[in-house]
Amino acid sequence: MPSPHNVIIIGSGPAGLTAALYAARGNLRPLLIEGLEAGGQLTLTTLVENYPGFRDGIMGPPLIQEMRAQAERFGTTIVPGNVTSVDVCASPIAVRTSDAEYHCKALIIATGASARLLGLPSERGLMGRGVSTCATCDGYFFRGQEIAVVGGGDSAMEEAVFLTKFADKVTLVHRRDVLRASKIMQDKARANPKIAWLLNSEVDEIRDTGRGEVTSMLVHNNKTGVQSELPVTGVFVAIGHTPNTSLFRGQLEMDANGYIVTHDGSKTSVPGVFACGDVQDHVYRQAVTAAGSGCMAAIDAERHLDNVPEHLASVPSHLGAR
Ligand code: NAP
Repeated sequence: MPSPHNVIIIGSGPAGLTAALYAARGNLRPLLIEGLEAGGQLTLTTLVENYPGFRDGIMGPPLIQEMRAQAERFGTTIVPGNVTSVDVCASPIAVRTSDAEYHCKALIIATGASARLLGLPSERGLMGRGVSTCATCDGYFFRGQEIAVVGGGDSAMEEAVFLTKFADKVTLVHRRDVLRASKIMQDKARANPKIAWLLNSEVDEIRDTGRGEVTSMLVHNNKTGVQSELPVTGVFVAIGHTPNTSLFRGQLEMDANGYIVTHDGSKTSVPGVFACGDVQDHVYRQAVTAAGSGCMAAIDAERHLDNVPEHLASVPSHLGAR
């Protein structure tokens, strides 16, 4: 077996790329496996106005491109590929893709979470063009407009209430007449005069893919079968997120929703395995918090490697240096 990598990072969103940047600057020569959706959720966004350092905002894809180039500049090797299995308890840790097998002394998991989608072709086609999965990121663009939020859980309530800061009217579209959200969140949403309710309703189509912008939504009532058209210029899909953790099921401690549990920074339940970004955070879910936790994971991995007896005694510790 060739000698193991010091650090393998799985995932190429802001968490993985920041972990790679810090690990590379620590002379750990990290290997980053980018995964199926290279760049992660930022590649589904258009203008990012809340990432510090960009006064006029920056589009999601070039922001990721810059992070990637910065990580490579300091010696990160980025390989395409989707990880098919991981053995975190092996020594060294084994990471397999469909066409290669890698080994490492420390593993950083940055596989992110995927926003659940309705699965409509028009939803995919208008993503970032009026359809969004992140109110914090995109709410600002809908000042004075009429928009819809789809979902009946805490996220939908929270996003709807948040969006009333910008929009004139927010219609909450939910497939049942009972909300899944906690009572306190429901009460908050119900008390908001800018929120209208469309219950027992399912989305059939978001218009207008031909114009490349959202002009309305076709919705049917699943009790009466009656279809109606809701004039909106934005649609926020808030039907939950799925953490991308199936590779680690049964190997790492996870919470009831499948998010990896971290403690003391980015440590997981297995020594030498660290997690950062949305795969372990269902609360903040921001590019900047993901990047921050990626930095933490690299520092934690480096400190772990410093304590592995045979490891790189000569590697200078640059992590945290500016
Ligand atoms: P969630 O609780 O799983 O709710 C998802 C909602 O989307 C449900 O109402 C569900 O409908 C609906 N839905 C799912 N798939 C759908 C589909 N294909 N078409 C239409 N509707 C669909 O997800 P979440 O709201 O993101 O919350 C996730 C976790 O984070 C929860 O534990 C929540 O309490 C927590 N959270 C907490 C806060 C807070 O406390 N501030 C804020 C956000 C989230 P059904 O009800 O019919 O299944």
